[in-house]
Parts: sequence; C-alpha cells; structure tokens
Amino acid sequence: MSVYDLTADEQVLIDAVSRFIEERVRPHVADLERKGAYPDHLVAEMKELGLFGMAVPEEFGGLGLRVTALAAMMEVLARGWTTLAAYVNSHSTVAYAIATHGTDGQKARYLPALAAGEQRGSLCLTEPGAGSDLQSIRGTAQRAENGYALSASKTYVTNGGKATLFLTLARLPQTPDATRPRFGLFLVERTRQGITQTTTFHKTAFGLVDTVQIEMDAVRLAGDDLLGAEEGRGFAQLMESLEIGRIAIATSAVGLAANALSEAKRYASERVTFGVPINQHQAIQLKLANMATRLVTARLITREAARIKESGGRCDMISAMAKMHASDEALAIAHEAVVVHGGAGYIQEYAVERLHREALLYTIGEGTNDINRLVIARRMQGEEEMAYLGLLP
Ligand SMILES: Cc1cc2nc3c(=O)[nH]c(=O)nc-3n(C[C@H](O)[C@H](O)[C@H](O)COP(=O)(O)OP(=O)(O)OC[C@H]3O[C@@H](n4cnc5c(N)ncnc54)[C@H](O)[C@@H]3O)c2cc1C
Repeated sequence: MSVYDLTADEQVLIDAVSRFIEERVRPHVADLERKGAYPDHLVAEMKELGLFGMAVPEEFGGLGLRVTALAAMMEVLARGWTTLAAYVNSHSTVAYAIATHGTDGQKARYLPALAAGEQRGSLCLTEPGAGSDLQSIRGTAQRAENGYALSASKTYVTNGGKATLFLTLARLPQTPDATRPRFGLFLVERTRQGITQTTTFHKTAFGLVDTVQIEMDAVRLAGDDLLGAEEGRGFAQLMESLEIGRIAIATSAVGLAANALSEAKRYASERVTFGVPINQHQAIQLKLANMATRLVTARLITREAARIKESGGRCDMISAMAKMHASDEALAIAHEAVVVHGGAGYIQEYAVERLHREALLYTIGEGTNDINRLVIARRMQGEEEMAYLGLLP
C-alpha cells in the first residue's frame, strides 16, 4: 500500500511498475552498472509501460498522472534503479511544460510522441557561464524571418545524447517598454541545422545517463517554436515547471534513500561481529532508527509538496523545501548505510557504495540546495507562506 493515497487505478499502474522493477531490473542492476552498456531493452519496456508519458495528459496518449501519483511512480523507479528515474525525470518536466504552457498546436505536435518515448526531451538551461544564476545566460534568440535564430552553448544536458527535443532557455530581444531582461523557452528539435553535440562529461556516478554539451549556432526556429502563445513568458513558465522537476528530484532522493536503508538493514542482519549479527549492537540499531526517521520526514515533505502542486496552490517554497530536505537526507542516509557496511561499504560490489555517490547529484541538480534555501528565504517574506508555516501572529 503506497503512502501517497493513490486511487485503485493508480495503484494498479504502480504495482505493474513495481513488478517490472523487482523482476526485470533489480536483479540485474549491479551487472548493468559494471558492464556500462546503455540498457536499451529496459528503456523499451519503460516505453511499453507508458513511463515516458507520466506527465502527458491521457488525451495525448499519456498516463496523465496526478502529481502525487507521479511522485509515487518516481519513488518506485528510483528505489529500483536511480538511472531509470533519471531517464524520465527531465523528460517529464519537458512534457509537463508543454502540456501546461504550450499552445494547442504544440501539444498536438509533441505530446503524443513524448508519451510514446519516440521523442525524448531534455532541458537546456545551464550554460558554461551560468547555472544558479540563469538570468545571466548569454544564449539569445534574435529575430529572423518568420521566427528566430537561436545561438547558445548549453551544458550538463542530462540525456542530451538521446534527446530529440531540447527545451531551451534563451534571451529575447528587449522591447522599448521592457524594464527587465526577457526570456523565451524554445522547442528545439535535434534535427535542426546548427546543432552539435560536443563534450560528453565523465561524472562521479550515473555513468549510464549521458550528460553532454550542446552547441546551437544560429538555429533557425519558427515563431511557433516558442513555447506558448506570448513572448517574454519563458522565465515564469520555467520556474513553474521546475516545481515539478524539484518534486521529481525529491522523490528520486526518497527512492534512493529507501533502497539504501533496505540494503543497510539486510546487511546488518547478516554480518556477524563479536558473536552476534551487528543489528543486535545498539549503535547499529540507533543508526537504522535515525535513517528510517529521516526517510519518513523526507517522504512526508515530498508528498506535501506534491499535494500542494496538485491542488494548484503556490508551490515554489514547498517544492524547494522538499528538494533540499529530501536530497540532504538521502545523502545522509546513504552515508550511514555505507558506515553500517563497514569496509564493504567502500566496495563496488555493494549497492550502497554507488548510492552514496549518486545521492550527491540530487543536492546539486534542479538548483543547488543553497539556491533552494534562497528561494525559501525569499518566499518567507510572503504572507501566504508565513501563514502556511503558522508564523503569522
Ligand atoms: C550531472 C548533472 C546533470 C545536470 N543536468 C542538467 C540538465 O539536464 N539541464 C540543465 O540545464 N542543467 C543541468 N545541470 C546543471 C545544474 O542544474 C547546475 O550545475 C546547478 O544548477 C548549479 O549551477 P552551476 O554548476 O553553474 O554552479 P554555480 O552557479 O557556479 O554555483 C557554484 C556554487 O556557488 C553557490 N552559489 C551560487 N550563487 C549563490 C548565491 N547567490 N548565494 C549563495 N550561494 C551561491 C552554489 O550553491 C554552488 O555551491 C546538471 C548538472 C549536473 C552536475
């Protein structure tokens, strides 16, 4: 029974994905990681299960999951293998952005293919000179005949090697009345002239999730390649869509932490020191109790963020809290899981060694945790948020 209060239909879907994870994925993760070969067969099965369409409405062929059900699904995937969660994470943010902010034409053009996994979406926001401070990006979309010419250097693009559609943030030309920089989110298909994939980055973990640099050199785009019907809404559309991205990272972190705790609990029941299994030593029991409590707090705040997003409430503060808290807790839990394993925790044969390396990424992606703390601090000036926190007189 899921803690996410799912409907019977949602539970059937989650059960099907849980079976896929237990039978087809979990037994093979260590081997797949060691071989380092891209798991095309699992991606094909994920497509069959509809997982690339989690955030796509049913009318466009997706699963049309509510935010809480999407969160529950991401947790199941990440608990089984974080890499699979990473294959659908930013893809789902791209699909969500189109479903929420796109025109009817854009929805019809992209959502069915994204739902089927025929199109794979990536987010192109970060540049070599700007990550946290996205308002300083240098990529521009200049006016050109019937549309734009987009030039940008986009880095650390997750799944960028496989992606066919890049949701790309770029500066728009200033208008005489504009007092602030103007941004657009563009739907850039990989087949456009002027796109090249340059560096493939070697990372601490997630070796089977490609992270690349994409150069866009005067890529010609039509007017309706700009997301939505109105120019200059790009930054607001992005911030709203990243709330889903943050919830997805938080749930991935919860899934990772749940896996680390299970591994630690199992190892503690098997490893014998001083004549007894180590789970009979109080020091180990205290660790497991703390890890379990941390896991539950991470899941609760994540579920709360999902609930608020789903209800249409303002969600930037709680989604930042969920992302920051859940990823910090996942890193701490993974670290404790390594400690419970003793020397074995440092050996690649044991899953916790990998989980510890992976957990670090969740504290960096979708805004570093300090940037998320700044979002929270800023929102704490608002009455609505202060009321939510019970801090109004
Ligand atoms: C594996 C991986 C995958 C990624 N995938 C994607 C992707 O798919 N698409 C995409 O667009 N990006 C992606 N990113 C980029 C990621 O979102 C950025 O790395 C992240 O937002 C931080 O930006 P930065 O690296 O430029 O760090 P910087 O912005 O240079 O920050 C450096 C440090 O300074 C701190 N800092 C910065 N400003 C402040 C401030 N005002 N106050 C206090 N502290 C501050 C930061 O918290 C950080 O600790 C990915 C990154 C990685 C590592």
